[in-house]
Amino acid sequence: MKNLTTTAGAPVASNQNSITAGPRGPVLLQDYQLIEKLAHQNRERIPERVVHAKGWGAYGQLTITNDLSKYSQAAIFSDVGKETPLLIRFSTVAGELGAADAERDVRGFAVKFYTEEGNWDLVGNNTPVFFIRDPLKFPDFIRTQKRHPKTNLRSPTAMWDFWSLSPESLHQVTILMSDRGLPIAPMYMNGYGSHTFSLWNDDGERYWVKFHFKTQQGHRYYTNAEATKIVGTSRESYQEELFGTIERGEFPRWTMYVQVMPELSAETMPFNPFDLTKVWPHMDYPLIEVGVVELNRNPDNYFAEIEQAAFSPSNVVPGVGYSPDKVLQSRIFSYADAHRYRLGTHYEALPVNAPQCPVHHYHKDGSMRFFSNDTGNPDSYYEPNSVGGPVENADYGEPPLKISGDADRYNHREGNDDYSQPRALFELFDDAQRQRLYSNIAEAMQGVPAEIAERQIGHFKRVHPEYGQGVADALGISIDIDRAA
Ligand code: NDP
Repeated sequence: MKNLTTTAGAPVASNQNSITAGPRGPVLLQDYQLIEKLAHQNRERIPERVVHAKGWGAYGQLTITNDLSKYSQAAIFSDVGKETPLLIRFSTVAGELGAADAERDVRGFAVKFYTEEGNWDLVGNNTPVFFIRDPLKFPDFIRTQKRHPKTNLRSPTAMWDFWSLSPESLHQVTILMSDRGLPIAPMYMNGYGSHTFSLWNDDGERYWVKFHFKTQQGHRYYTNAEATKIVGTSRESYQEELFGTIERGEFPRWTMYVQVMPELSAETMPFNPFDLTKVWPHMDYPLIEVGVVELNRNPDNYFAEIEQAAFSPSNVVPGVGYSPDKVLQSRIFSYADAHRYRLGTHYEALPVNAPQCPVHHYHKDGSMRFFSNDTGNPDSYYEPNSVGGPVENADYGEPPLKISGDADRYNHREGNDDYSQPRALFELFDDAQRQRLYSNIAEAMQGVPAEIAERQIGHFKRVHPEYGQGVADALGISIDIDRAA
């Protein structure tokens, strides 16, 4: 039997009784074991994520099935059959840490690949697009998904007011309100890197790239009515399903694909290929298989390994690069910033975040400095130095991003077609899917002032006349659909 100890390692003689001045007397301040226990409990929570607070995660690996070396020099893609360990955290976006799992919302799909050349984080969603294309609108958008400052309730009016004034959101709103907006569990949905990233090869050639993870379990979703019943019996349906499935040895899988665009083709695309509200049509940019992702190990400690898991789009590896996508550019800053705030300066050194390759840097002190000197010599704590400390290696130099222009606040709405891609999606839906789309939207619009509903229906009408009419009918309102458009 192991001795129970204090955090300083001293054996504890009693974990049942506090020290009191007599059996009926008050507790003594010297009862350090009691104080330590209470003090630790007071500090058991860290700030929850402002978005993506509720999550579920597991470990597994990516196995490469296709040679991508023509596009990228990344070690992760170097050989067919190569396995790279990974962690995935799925999440809802708007709900707090205690929110129910089976709620209609976009799902986060964040992958951390522990490659031999550092961690590569692909921090995407279960949707290929997003609600906004300019990051200046991100805090405003998120406000509309969170609680109203006075009522402390979520506000459908705020959501639809913002969306109806931001037509770039139509594509994502249509996906969110379609069947795929409420998957049964994480293994029944696709994942997407969503942003355009880039790949670069040994010859210094850059390609723009989109990443896709297609579920091998098939798409399964709840209707709103089914989800209401599920939430009435369990608020933790995703955790139960993901954890239980992996414990039973049934390992969920996704096929990973890329779409690849030669660097200069970006200039001749009919729309901006770095616009986060748009997909690249498969017909023009077919999916190229990369490998298979499997999840096969549950974490031993949820808090240590999932709550403290820190994903950041800034984490790329040689052979993978960013793109000019404005929202990606802002996330390169904001994710690492959020982790420094939530977890502490050296959050990357926590076991779940630590790279599985040697790490040598000169960042020194600060919260969570629990790792030893890592430069191989205590005298090398600055650079350059004469004592053989770590140095840069030009072999890993990335080709220049060939993008330039005059700095200005360019109008991100001007000249954009926000209707064609939602239309292409709407045209994929059969009648039953369209009816569910209309009723999901009508439910989400309950209580929204008529003027906002009409403005939004105008956008739906511009996507497709049946879309606008279908939502108006589901809402039971009679509007002049042409005037609304
Ligand atoms: P395709 O017919 O080649 O592909 C249609 C895509 O739509 C498939 O990826 C399919 O995913 C996905 N899809 C089907 N139903 C839904 C749904 N309810 N919600 C979200 N995605 C769904 O067409 P295009 O490439 O020309 O794209 C047409 C439209 O499909 C786009 O405007 C976009 O809305 C949507 N889409 C396109 C993607 C792309 O990267 N091109 C990716 C995802 C969606 P699956 O194969 O898993 O069934």
